[in-house]
Amino acid sequence: MTADETTPLARELADLTRRRQALAAQELPLPGSTRVFTVANQKGGVGKTTTTVNLAAALARAGAKVLVIDLDPQGNASTAIGVEHRADTASVYDVIINDEPMAAVVQASPEFGTLYCVPATIHLAGAEIELVSLVAREQRLRTALETFLEGSPEPYHYVFIDCPPSLGLLTINAFVAATEVLIPIQCEYYALEGLSQLLSNIQLIERHLNPELTVSTILMTMYDSRTNLANQVVQDVREHFPEQVLDTLIPRSVRISEAPSYGQSVISYDTNSSGSLSYREAAAEIAHRGAPR
Ligand code: ADP
Ligand code: MG
Repeated sequence: MTADETTPLARELADLTRRRQALAAQELPLPGSTRVFTVANQKGGVGKTTTTVNLAAALARAGAKVLVIDLDPQGNASTAIGVEHRADTASVYDVIINDEPMAAVVQASPEFGTLYCVPATIHLAGAEIELVSLVAREQRLRTALETFLEGSPEPYHYVFIDCPPSLGLLTINAFVAATEVLIPIQCEYYALEGLSQLLSNIQLIERHLNPELTVSTILMTMYDSRTNLANQVVQDVREHFPEQVLDTLIPRSVRISEAPSYGQSVISYDTNSSGSLSYREAAAEIAHRGAPR
């Protein structure tokens, strides 16, 4: 400890500096083939969208080519990376329901040169019902994404699909299109409630629709180190899922929550804030771990 690390604030600043330097010093490995993640949890407000956009932005910032597919009619992921999603914008709805090629609706995010987005508009709200009567209703996103990835001149390294807070047909389409599931879990008392239902749904998908699907990653969000409860929840989840839980915990952070109102990820909005550093560290862990075998 140096002389200027004697106050809590000075220590915190020194800690942020160390973390920033550690991130700057490492180069993230790029996967040999596209890793497709579905970010899912049927609970709302646990950090799915925040996690989707910030991991995507962090990986893009580190040089990966990344696609975010917004599958929530709210369109929050599109907003958060500055991508147009008015009612008349060509969107994931047109892909899933009208067989529009994904290449026709993809937009570049102004955030980073290698970040792209398939936006969601309010039309997607009706898709849950419209899908019921369509042929191969569970496979529509997968087919569209496969065609898109095959036709992409430069390969994508990562795809993140942001799910709505339900286990309906849109989420099923996401599970069928992905190989990895990332579950954000909020560090609060009811965190594990509903998790077994989510996991048994994923198992059903794996058995019947997508044998390649694995829950590879669990990320603890909105962590507040001052509460015993948060620490207890983290400990419980780590005991249940020792392989999947990332070491990085995402803190509760004002910067994280205010970034979307500027149409930005926290990675570009305030890149060296503690929230941004945490998402960059989580992204680095994901990159270093690689795809599960
Ligand atoms: P979901 O997509 O699961 O519904 P969101 O990502 O939209 O959840 O997050 C819910 C709310 O919590 C949003 O207002 C978001 O800005 C806020 N939030 C998410 N993560 C954090 C965090 N680490 N710190 C502070 N606020 C957060
Ligand atoms: Mg969301």
